[in-house]
Amino acid sequence: MSEKNKADSTSRRTPGHLEREESQLWRWALMFLVLLATGLAALAWDRLQDFPYHLGAIPVGLVILSILFAVYVYGRRREVSELKSLLHDLEERSGAAPSPEQLDQLSQVISRSQKSFKELIDSLEDAAFALSLDGTLRTVNRSMSDLLHLPYAEIVGRKLDEFVEEPVRAEIEANLGRFLEKRHWAGLVNVRLKNSTRVLYFDCTLNAIVKDDEVVGTSVLARDVTSEREKETRFTELFETLQEGIYFSSPEGKLLDANSALATMLGYETKEQILALSPEQLSFSTGQAAALGNVGKSPSGVRQREITLRRKDGAAAIFMDTSRAILDGYGNVIRYQGTLVDVTQRRGIEKKLREQERFQRYLLESFPDLILVIGLDESYQFVSSRIRDVLGGKPEDLLGKKVTETEHAPELIALCREILAGRMTFGACEYGIRHSDGSWRMMRASVSALHDAERALSGAIASIRDITIERKFEAQVIESERLAAMGQMIGGFAHELNNPLTSILGMADLLQDTASDETRKQLTTLQHEARRAAEVVQNLLYFSRPPAPGRNPIDPGELIERTIHLHTYSLRKNNITIDFLREPVRLVSGDAHQLMQIFLNLVRNAEQAIRETRDRGTLRIRCSNSSQAVSITFQDDGAGISAEVLPYIFDPFYTTKRPGRGTGLGLSICKAILREHGGGIEATLGPGGGAVFTVTLPTMKAQTSHA
Ligand code: ADP
Repeated sequence: MSEKNKADSTSRRTPGHLEREESQLWRWALMFLVLLATGLAALAWDRLQDFPYHLGAIPVGLVILSILFAVYVYGRRREVSELKSLLHDLEERSGAAPSPEQLDQLSQVISRSQKSFKELIDSLEDAAFALSLDGTLRTVNRSMSDLLHLPYAEIVGRKLDEFVEEPVRAEIEANLGRFLEKRHWAGLVNVRLKNSTRVLYFDCTLNAIVKDDEVVGTSVLARDVTSEREKETRFTELFETLQEGIYFSSPEGKLLDANSALATMLGYETKEQILALSPEQLSFSTGQAAALGNVGKSPSGVRQREITLRRKDGAAAIFMDTSRAILDGYGNVIRYQGTLVDVTQRRGIEKKLREQERFQRYLLESFPDLILVIGLDESYQFVSSRIRDVLGGKPEDLLGKKVTETEHAPELIALCREILAGRMTFGACEYGIRHSDGSWRMMRASVSALHDAERALSGAIASIRDITIERKFEAQVIESERLAAMGQMIGGFAHELNNPLTSILGMADLLQDTASDETRKQLTTLQHEARRAAEVVQNLLYFSRPPAPGRNPIDPGELIERTIHLHTYSLRKNNITIDFLREPVRLVSGDAHQLMQIFLNLVRNAEQAIRETRDRGTLRIRCSNSSQAVSITFQDDGAGISAEVLPYIFDPFYTTKRPGRGTGLGLSICKAILREHGGGIEATLGPGGGAVFTVTLPTMKAQTSHA
């Protein structure tokens, strides 16, 4: 700047002008205080409200800006006061030319002013520079020279293109016209410097430098936003490359933004297509609440739930939605953001597996055998519901328990252990076990090793069948064969004995007429014993070939009453009480005489069993209808039958009574008669210690249909 210009600029600053400038400065200072106060207030407000936006940076920025500004104002204020005093001196000299000292002082003040202005510009972190319209750099601040790695003197006066690879000059000139018109431009510029290959991003503000209302250049303030842009790019890349669907939605369920993965999951080509959908179009069923929007009463916090959205082809797509509500300062939901994982296929597979599992369970449950699965830890892992019939009780009574904790048969447990130890792959066993109703059942178990998908041993599976009835039938067949053989043999003996006995009795009768008194007495004894022998022979014949029974309708209750009546005297004499509750039962078809013989035999046996141990007792008789038969039980409180004796009591000639008291034919004849009637007889140990005999007779109807 020439001496003349210096004098001009000084002379233009009149005292009034300077006064205005000073008061302007004070106004700026006041504004600075207001700004500072606003900044601090915002900081306090931010803390109070826990604002979601990062307002913390605003007051800090304001304070720094205000301090810089204050420094600047302070410097300018000093400068203005110096100028004021100089002008005042000049005025006082009223038109006299300023002295060389005064001019020197004036020039020093001006250069100091320029220097402080430059310092202010240099202190800016953003790159600041001025360009003439041909692209020549007029001035640059320290940030700009740092960016170009060159000192101020080596930059100023050179063209911008010498340092910048991109944007190219042609690109800048293409937009120059618009800038000259508006005189202002702000925006993001991608820059590649010649000293680096990295692309930098600058947020730029351009203001025209105007001289005599003509644009002669531009001032540029450029903030380096490269790292923010890079972060943003990385986030966008992540957003777009994630396999999960990512979305932002309004509280009403309208998609605000989403990644392309979500568009693909819903069968669309671009994300713009799904952003154009209304909440209703996204929902799978009409009338359903917006799937992505507000749910329930508590919109805040992370929510994880399964939602169904409609695909482009109209099919249902099931998603696992993990999302979060974003709230404003008042706790209202501004939007939801979250991820969606497509679980449609997984749900489909799960459904199929469930169906398969149900089918397999149904198969196992419908199996007539009881199925048990025992794990390697010897615990019951599966128990089919057949357990209710086979053993009584529920599957839950066993499930999860160790085999040793339950009362299952030791034979089965031992077999399972062999299989679980890998010493066997298959085995079978038969064992007896008590049903929960107290009865003793026979079981046959087949146990196999169970393997998992990797063919590793995972447990044992047992199929258990109740073979009690099967065994009973087998025993019955064996017994009836044995009895038939025995009957044939006994029948032969009886015939052989019958003839000599008849001769003995006939001869004894003849001898009676001629014999002396003494001999007659002996003959009477002989006849008595021969008759007893004949009676036994008759019984034997009865057992081996019982006469065909008559087929008359018989009320078993009435027949029992008649039997008791016939035997009343003996019962009373032996203090035996008959407890007979005559309940109406169906009629049976049979031979009244033969059936009475059975009942009488059972009453007599009970009487004898009671008398064996005590001088009084009770015989309890009950009749009941079962599906196709009438059952009559005779339960006494006598000596009872020991377990060792029980299997033989129906055998002919088996007796525990002393000689002369029993022949051992009573029960075998009963059995033979009942067999002829299509019925049966069983003996069990009574609960109170006595014996229980159960006679079964088919009812009239059952017999007819059977015949
Ligand atoms: P007997 O009465 O001649 O011995 P049975 O065939 O009638 O022949 O009986 C066979 C055996 O059955 C008897 O010896 C006895 O041991 C047993 N018995 C039959 N009835 C009873 C009963 N009510 N109580 C205990 N034991 C019985």
